Amino acid sequence: MRGPQWLDDGMPHIWLPYTQMQTVLPPLPAVRTSGCDIHLADGRVLVDGIASWWTACHGYNHPHIREAVSAQLGRMPHVMFGGLVHEPALTLATRLAAILPGDLERVFFTDSGSVAVEVAIKIAIQYWINRGVSGRNRLLAFRGGYHGDTLATMAVCDPEEGMHALFSGVLPQHYIVDLPRDEASFRALETLLSESGDEIAAILVEPLIQGAGGMLFHGPDVLRRLRTLADRYGVLLIFDEIFTGFGRTGTMFACEQADVVPDIMTLSKALTAGTMALAATVTRSHVFEAFLSDNPLHALMHGPTFMANPLACACANASLDLFATEPRLQQVARISAQMTEELEACRGLPNVRDVRVMGAVGVVELDAIADMNRLKAALIALGVWVRPFRTIIYLTPAFTVRPEELSCLTSAIAQVIRDGA
Ligand code: PLP
Repeated sequence: MRGPQWLDDGMPHIWLPYTQMQTVLPPLPAVRTSGCDIHLADGRVLVDGIASWWTACHGYNHPHIREAVSAQLGRMPHVMFGGLVHEPALTLATRLAAILPGDLERVFFTDSGSVAVEVAIKIAIQYWINRGVSGRNRLLAFRGGYHGDTLATMAVCDPEEGMHALFSGVLPQHYIVDLPRDEASFRALETLLSESGDEIAAILVEPLIQGAGGMLFHGPDVLRRLRTLADRYGVLLIFDEIFTGFGRTGTMFACEQADVVPDIMTLSKALTAGTMALAATVTRSHVFEAFLSDNPLHALMHGPTFMANPLACACANASLDLFATEPRLQQVARISAQMTEELEACRGLPNVRDVRVMGAVGVVELDAIADMNRLKAALIALGVWVRPFRTIIYLTPAFTVRPEELSCLTSAIAQVIRDGA
């Protein structure tokens, strides 16, 4: 069946993400979304198992969010944030400060997760410069982590391995080590901090789940021990909650499960429930205070054109309304229980290395995926939108996913594995 004309016309001009354009298969033309469904131009409807890269936590086109954005569109779609402020941004900052733990209360808005992490890195390095401490300009981050695709954020992923390896020679050098999980690796980390701590501005970690780097889980104790080490060696602690924030791990923020407050936190993705581009870098008061000075250079010199876009902030405020009025965390608990039960069907199948679930994240890890294109096509043929990567097939559905939709997703995964993924 022929696709729409705009697909034929546009494909020679578009450059797609994470795609070898020489061999790319025609992508699916999406024309509409609703609930957990993606409607394609040819009339097919796919159940979305990953909520558009983990953003659409209330499902697509929630009427409350639509109305909030439409109302804001009529009032003020955008205004620059330099020298001007507006109600949607200040209300959102106030509300984030109220729901974030501890004194995480100073919010800097940007427009993508990568930039939120870049700002966190800049803040961490400048924090020390402003305090008159020189040489603390490296980050300590963990293998398996993913913090974005910009130059600064590639450098805190694993620059030697994985998709950014080509850039390893040109990126700033940080300390990238294994995430400590046992006594020996905590001792090794402590040795590194005691020998090189005066070069390190901050420890950066995705709390509880390293997402795009491999959907790797760790326990809250790891976070508590990182907090202890950060305090002992006087380095800042940054939690990147761009994937885990807003309920995904079962609590509103993953750090709550460890009862740990980082010095800096990054947020994006479900912040606007996937409707608009918005991100936030939030700091504790002692971090912010290091930027208060008579020296103009001590200000944070950053200001993306579309930062704090009023439509995006209105959208995020509407999303927070829904967290307050609808039973999202109970839904996450229900999804977690259902995925735990249903994905169990995959354990023991040939090629399955591990099955794991945390909150509304379900992962089936294989030993190998024989043919990624064939696997993706098989999932689509079963009516689901799931995007496996490397050896990982994962689900991060909307929290509003209906039990029968979730069953459709879990059974499709079991079937493609049985059919020889
Ligand atoms: N940090 C984490 C934990 C992420 O999962 C992502 C995106 O997947 C990013 C940062 C980068 O966000 P963005 O794609 O909006 O730049």
